[in-house]
Amino acid sequence: MSKVNILGVNIDKVTMKDAIKMVMVFLESDKLNPIYTPNPEFIMNAREDGEFKKILNEGALVIPDGIGVIYAARINGEPLLERVPGYELTENILKEISDKKYTAYFLGAKGDIAKLAAERMMEKYPGLKVVGWRNGYFKTEDENEIIDEINRLGVDYLVVGLGSPRQEKFIYRNKEKLKVKAAIGNGGTLDIMAGIAKRAPVIFQKTGLEWFYRLLKQPSRFGRMLKLPEFMSIIIWNRIKKNK
Ligand code: UDP
Repeated sequence: MSKVNILGVNIDKVTMKDAIKMVMVFLESDKLNPIYTPNPEFIMNAREDGEFKKILNEGALVIPDGIGVIYAARINGEPLLERVPGYELTENILKEISDKKYTAYFLGAKGDIAKLAAERMMEKYPGLKVVGWRNGYFKTEDENEIIDEINRLGVDYLVVGLGSPRQEKFIYRNKEKLKVKAAIGNGGTLDIMAGIAKRAPVIFQKTGLEWFYRLLKQPSRFGRMLKLPEFMSIIIWNRIKKNK
């Protein structure tokens, strides 16, 4: 499958349909396939954190989660096919596996949010087997116990929503120990599934302004979001230099 390089991070040129098909193949494999969901903030962090960049580039599936990544690829003259948000991919997979033998586990978010997300998804997709959940505020010492639980439950699809880069590093560090078939770094997905956080209205999604909606809802993200204009400036500047 072809990849598009955005400032050193290789992103798969896939549609949502392709991504779903790939995950279904992963679920039949005999090792953990990491799935990562980079947006511009990830890519800017990867420029400063070599380990994070290496982790992303070793993903079995690396989907273009943010609209900024789509714009950057277009400006670079090597367009990606479409935006593939991690939240939507996971919801599609949960739907897809609800009439199959595969199981899921939700790890992340505060308090009982993962449990609530599991209950809501199982209600929405009858037959779905979310066999366990755990909040994302645990100590490093507890990690082995969590992994043992996941392994004991025979989990196939692991949703890890610990925020980035913690979730990607968790998956990478434990990829030999975790006996799951696919693990996705999924950010705030569990908050949305539990109904605690809302996705942007469709008009914001369609116009590529989901990030703006999130900024309005959570002004504390402003500092983090300053990376977005910085990211676009670097992309545009590189393109201008290339054309000189
Ligand atoms: N989170 C967690 N453990 C932590 C830090 C964060 O489980 O130590 C959770 C947080 O509660 C939220 C999710 O990680 O559910 C995503 O956080 P963030 O807002 O940073 O990610 P984004 O929404 O940008 O993907």
